[in-house]
Amino acid sequence: MATRLLILGGTTEARVLAGRIAAIAGYDGVLSLAGRTERPLPQHLPVRTGGFGGAAGLASYLKSESIAALVVATHPFAARIAANAAEAARAAGIPVVRLSRPPWRAAKGDNWRSHPSLEALVQGLAGPPRRLLVTIGRQDAARFAGAPQHAYVFRSIEPIDLPPQLGHALTIEERGPFTLASETELMRRHAIEALVTKNSGGDATRAKLDAARGLGLEVLMVERPPAPDIPEVASIADVIAFLAHHAPPEKRGV
Ligand code: NAP
Repeated sequence: MATRLLILGGTTEARVLAGRIAAIAGYDGVLSLAGRTERPLPQHLPVRTGGFGGAAGLASYLKSESIAALVVATHPFAARIAANAAEAARAAGIPVVRLSRPPWRAAKGDNWRSHPSLEALVQGLAGPPRRLLVTIGRQDAARFAGAPQHAYVFRSIEPIDLPPQLGHALTIEERGPFTLASETELMRRHAIEALVTKNSGGDATRAKLDAARGLGLEVLMVERPPAPDIPEVASIADVIAFLAHHAPPEKRGV
């Protein structure tokens, strides 16, 4: 029987990793999505969708599906599922590894203000109105009701339901990757004065930071939540190497 793997996904990296796993003989992979995106992209592995019911539910799934190793390739800000994965893998007695893109770091010419959480960032938005481009996903947009004086442009993959306090805000639905030219044009068109973003890392959405630097705009950055205590790697090749060591593909015909 092939070695069974579960990949917790919802990111570009998880999708690419699924393609790599699908191409390795002796692995039988399943990709798990939370089900937040209404139009998810096609995947290279069978997909299961929806929560497991906490760490205990995930541990039961790992056991009943005879999963040999767990890969956490969720977004760096998806803190709960990562913590659940660490606990469930421990309970099921299987190896677990997290694929996490390195965070972005400010470079010369950047004007970043870092915040430990989105709550702290919104609290820091007291003050005169500004024109803000917000690219934090649709789940947390309602938190900006705490600072309704600003003129917001929210960009997300899926439509956002805004609270009544922000009824006049602009919303843009677009899926990256974006280019420096298109990000610069977007910021100019809306006369943006500051960019609000999570420190997601990766290349697909970093052009907005370069555009902000070029235009001399402030970047209000939400830093990452604490990571669970499990092995972490930064590349797909390192995930494959981890798996080759801890849960190698079943060799057929031997
Ligand atoms: P979260 O707060 O860490 O997780 C909340 C709950 O959603 C989990 O307890 C789990 O439910 C379920 N869940 C999350 N990821 C799952 C997965 N891959 N497969 C099955 N169930 C999953 O996560 P979140 O921040 O809401 O993010 C949800 C998904 O969107 C993640 O897959 C993440 O990769 C993706 N995403 C998140 C962000 C972000 O900024 N947070 C950005 C881009 C993409 P149960 O406890 O019932 O198992």
